[in-house]
Amino acid sequence: MVEHRIHNFNAGPAALPLQVLEEIQANFLNFDHSGMSITEISHRSSYFDKVINDAVERAKRLLKLDDRYHVLFLQGGASLQFAMVPMNFLSMNDSADYVNTGTWAGKAIKEAQILKKNHRVAASSEDKDFSYIPKEIKFSENAKYVHLTSNNTIKGTQYYEFPDTKGIPIVCDMSSDIFSRPLDMEKFGLIYAGAQKNLGPSGTCMVIIRQDMLDMENKDLPTMLKYSTHASKNSMYNTPPCFGIYTIDLVLKWIEEEIGGLEKMEAHNIQKADALYDYMDSGNFYRPTAEKYSRSLMNVTFRLPNEDLEKKFIAQAMEKGLGGLKGHRSVGGCRASIYNATGMESISALVQFMEAFEKENK
Ligand SMILES: *Cc1c(COP(=O)(O)O)cnc(C)c1O
Repeated sequence: MVEHRIHNFNAGPAALPLQVLEEIQANFLNFDHSGMSITEISHRSSYFDKVINDAVERAKRLLKLDDRYHVLFLQGGASLQFAMVPMNFLSMNDSADYVNTGTWAGKAIKEAQILKKNHRVAASSEDKDFSYIPKEIKFSENAKYVHLTSNNTIKGTQYYEFPDTKGIPIVCDMSSDIFSRPLDMEKFGLIYAGAQKNLGPSGTCMVIIRQDMLDMENKDLPTMLKYSTHASKNSMYNTPPCFGIYTIDLVLKWIEEEIGGLEKMEAHNIQKADALYDYMDSGNFYRPTAEKYSRSLMNVTFRLPNEDLEKKFIAQAMEKGLGGLKGHRSVGGCRASIYNATGMESISALVQFMEAFEKENK
């Protein structure tokens, strides 16, 4: 039985700002004086119109998006985007470049394969177990897009700078670091992100798509699988994930009004990650798994001297109210996911626990 909220280091679904959860709770039974819960209101009502438009506007302000960009809320998670992207943008004679930086990037490549779309793996970090982000990549001149995964949730690596693709639009899976920092949007034709890491509850996928990408979409696709369907109907061709969109709106409001925008969000995230990495670098008991210049600010992956100690570490941490520190089942080890909503107080509590654990078990 846990009586209090824990320090939540889960990878996804993950921690949300407490203030957002409290606001949802306070308004849950009677949303905006409608006499109904947000989960009971028609998506065609003026109440919901206000919510979705507010979420779109906040996303546009935060990322400084101009009128060429559409902000969509889709279903099927980031995983459906793995397939929708090649379906929409690659015709018979087209090809796309992919960079393989781990599990999720690999799954995106697999969908292009299943769909028998021409694609090329332009670079991969598989040779060192995906512990780094490839540099100086040569992209094909005629690629329709370059697919990247900005933050590798499982392997704990992240792009600090995005490659120069010489004008080829980047399609980027930003599921685990969207809105964690400012972006130079000019490079991106499409960004997608499952909400459950940095944005809100699972069940909603945010897609930001530029008009020139919409213009090159394949027309002979099922209605629900075409981006234009959703762009032309403000994500309400069918019933959208209303509760998810509402929560995302509140999270974006929190970033704008409480944090003060993406520059501040990034500074906050750097401070948090530095505190953890610096502590680990100061000794040799905890070993970060990613190469130094590719270390993720969102998912801090590390090992202890052996697997028994890792098990003990994870179990004792939980007893102290520090949850979610187990690495992904495919890689083992430990992982602290420290997305936007994780506060410095959680990092301090974790470092304190790590120090005590090291002393006892060295
Ligand atoms: C979690 C995650 C996914 C999968 O997201 P779903 O919404 O579960 O489909 C894809 N890519 C990255 C980078 C992730 O972290």
